[in-house]
Amino acid sequence: MKFGILYTPISLEHRPDGYHPENPGRLKRAVEGLKKAGLWKNVIEPEAVQEKELLRVHDGEYVELVKELGRSFDYLDPDTYVSPGTFNAARHAFGAVKKAVELVLDEKGLYLALVRPPGHHAGRKGRAFNAPTLGFCIFNNAAYAAKLLEGLTGKALVIDFDAHHGNGTQEILWNDSDVVHIDLHERDIYPGSGYEYEIGGKGAEGTKVNIPMPHYSGDDDYIYAWNEVVLPIVAQFKPDVIIVSAGFDGFHGDGLTTLRLSEVFYAYAGTTLARYPLTVVLEGGYSVGLEKGLPAFMAGYLSKERLEVPVHPSFETLNTVERIKEILGEWWEF
Ligand SMILES: [Zn+2]
Repeated sequence: MKFGILYTPISLEHRPDGYHPENPGRLKRAVEGLKKAGLWKNVIEPEAVQEKELLRVHDGEYVELVKELGRSFDYLDPDTYVSPGTFNAARHAFGAVKKAVELVLDEKGLYLALVRPPGHHAGRKGRAFNAPTLGFCIFNNAAYAAKLLEGLTGKALVIDFDAHHGNGTQEILWNDSDVVHIDLHERDIYPGSGYEYEIGGKGAEGTKVNIPMPHYSGDDDYIYAWNEVVLPIVAQFKPDVIIVSAGFDGFHGDGLTTLRLSEVFYAYAGTTLARYPLTVVLEGGYSVGLEKGLPAFMAGYLSKERLEVPVHPSFETLNTVERIKEILGEWWEF
């Protein structure tokens, strides 16, 4: 199985001026976790993309704003800082994604873009839909992967399992009927979107799939939704490449949400995708999720073992999944 990690220490140069959950220590924890699991290998240093690549997913004015604010230290909004190292780190994040996409097309297997700053809340002009802030994100790495793949191959599918809704990705791909975007996240938290009835713009209906999970959901709930909604859509769409917007803030105790996922869900998710080439892009995850969830997902994928996990989802999860099937049954068979 081909496998590689795109990583550069330049990602650490995007730094807060004081405590902030999105800080360089996150990548250090992720690297430690991968090392412990014996997965810190085939590390490739990506180059930065040229500025014009950013315009494939963002407006010029927004790109200029980020660049301008980063001349010193500043904030795009109360959640999201820009430091002097941000713009360069972000251009390298796009470079990591680009390299991961090229490698996955050539070699199949799994390529991880282990990057900061994260991206899935970043819309074309910054804040996406009615989100209050950019939620620590600068440029949308996963949407860039989707746009690259669209230019190179037929079918890309994005799965975002970060605990928060990938509203920026959804906004950028909203009217794009060629890219399927499936998003599992905790319901009714930041950024306030990602409901079942958000299914894509005119002409792209059914290509955007939102799975807003109940508070306190655990492995059983997530695996159930994964089996009932995610896997049937993946099997019917038959993507050439799957882009995983991989956030690990749903891990129990990671800190920002009420979700209670463990290695079991992430490993299971990995095993079920083993047949597909994967470009994995790091999103959130602020502590233990990076150390344990990320390696579990990677190891699951690489093991190729199909786990059979009996699940007992909550009543609320059963209801959520039922509603989604009703709404999306017009486009997908469940
Ligand atoms: Zn998140």
